[in-house]
Amino acid sequence: MTIAQTPVSLRRPIDGRHRQMFVDGAWVDARTGRTMETRNPATGAVIATVPRSDRQDIELAVAAARKAFDGPWSRFKPYERQVLLLKIADLFEKHWEEISRSDTTDMGMPIVRTRANRNRVIGMLRYYAGMATSLHGETIENSLPGEIVSFTRKEPVGVVGAIIPWNAPTAASIWKIGPALATGCTVVLKPSEEAPLTPLLIADIMNEAGVPPGVVNIVTGTGAEAGAALAEHMGVDKIVFTGSTATGQSIVRASAGNLKRVSLELGGKSPVIVCADADLDRAVPVAAMSVFANSGQICIAGSRLFVERSIHDEFVERLAAYAKGLKIGDGIDPATEIGPLVSEKQLLRVTDYLEAGTAEGATLVTGGTRLVEGALAAGNFVAPTVFAGVSDDMRIAREEIFGPVISALPFDTLDEAIERANNTPYGLAAGVFTQNVATAHQLARKIRAGSVWVNTYHAIDPAVPFGGYKMSGYGREGGAEHLDEYLNTKGVFIKID
Ligand code: NAD
Repeated sequence: MTIAQTPVSLRRPIDGRHRQMFVDGAWVDARTGRTMETRNPATGAVIATVPRSDRQDIELAVAAARKAFDGPWSRFKPYERQVLLLKIADLFEKHWEEISRSDTTDMGMPIVRTRANRNRVIGMLRYYAGMATSLHGETIENSLPGEIVSFTRKEPVGVVGAIIPWNAPTAASIWKIGPALATGCTVVLKPSEEAPLTPLLIADIMNEAGVPPGVVNIVTGTGAEAGAALAEHMGVDKIVFTGSTATGQSIVRASAGNLKRVSLELGGKSPVIVCADADLDRAVPVAAMSVFANSGQICIAGSRLFVERSIHDEFVERLAAYAKGLKIGDGIDPATEIGPLVSEKQLLRVTDYLEAGTAEGATLVTGGTRLVEGALAAGNFVAPTVFAGVSDDMRIAREEIFGPVISALPFDTLDEAIERANNTPYGLAAGVFTQNVATAHQLARKIRAGSVWVNTYHAIDPAVPFGGYKMSGYGREGGAEHLDEYLNTKGVFIKID
């Protein structure tokens, strides 16, 4: 995939200045005037302040979204929503370099990765644009006496509250806003306090595309204040949430007030199973980057690496060599492969797991420390880490770390690998490496996870559903069923005799 080199338009330079949030088509501050800082995790520098909104601001944003939903937006025809989404996609294409730099500077993901997400994100927008004109109910034959015609209508659920994490702000925003626009819903999106800048840039793009006021509102603030207020708001018809399992649980509780619909993309502790017949030249880099990409801050990180015992030692050795060769640094440098963790809080969390791994008796093969040489000292950098000799009951093998840490676990039989892979409260994703087609099918069928990748990892496509089993959440993003999450089905009967 080649990346087009678009010139960087400096419509919203990242220069330490204050950014307002976007409500009802206008740039505004929090009613209280409070602000919060966002930092570049590679340097520790404050790169902007944004409004720290609370319940009152959420109230205004939800009212704007309701007014737009009941007003002009409800008269947009599917074709007009399609045209709008295509225009947004074109503007994303035009501003992609600026979007990439914004994500890299605000949350640390290396620019090679943020640039490479281009086709995925723009592809999503064009996929939803296509879906906007293909939503329909059904005519259903009934068995009632007399002549009664029955059919279903698909109607937008209404005002959608979207709450996203920091690890992929652009993709997460579009995964929420795209289907809302395609189905005719309106949105109040609350970005993570750790990475609010790209969602604000996206608001700018929505504005430029001509999205009517109130249809997309971006409200910055903390989870405890703005996020909780959105989750419990009686005027919100649905919450779409991506984030940790614990927050997902609190959102389900908060949603009970008006029994709003909820869909959840939550955490994971995904297994990667490497069979002895695997093509190791292919499996080593893919298994490594299944975790090390974005410094492990990926919900689908394949952090439990089950390796068939006969190749375990060789595999771990090659994995460690690969980890040692990765270039670590400020993500804005195109040569950087591993950037910083998003915050000091995340750094402490990950280093706590590194200590726990050693304390519980795992063998540290490589990494295991914060990196503080030279310029790295200013940022939140952790060395890509591989632990061997890990047992299933250790914390590093059970809990989501959200850092660049792989736990290698040997296995002897396929049945044992399947049983241990499934022995987790999570079920987001899994990877399998084998050249045996029967093994591939068996594992794809028996692993309890929303995505299974064979001889690859991280494959996500707008047309293919993505989501969790078990405590990794419910609802799907991507594919036709994604749009259904934003629609109500109404049954209509018309007596015609
Ligand atoms: P988090 O749950 O702490 O925060 C996510 C969002 O929820 C943020 O915007 C935060 O402000 C908000 N929030 C926090 N408390 C809230 C509350 N009480 N009510 C409403 N909103 C609240 O998660 P995080 O630390 O930002 O992200 C990391 C987690 O996200 C990891 O567990 C990861 O696995 C998960 N994640 C999952 C996916 C997925 O698709 N399954 C994708 C990315 C991240």
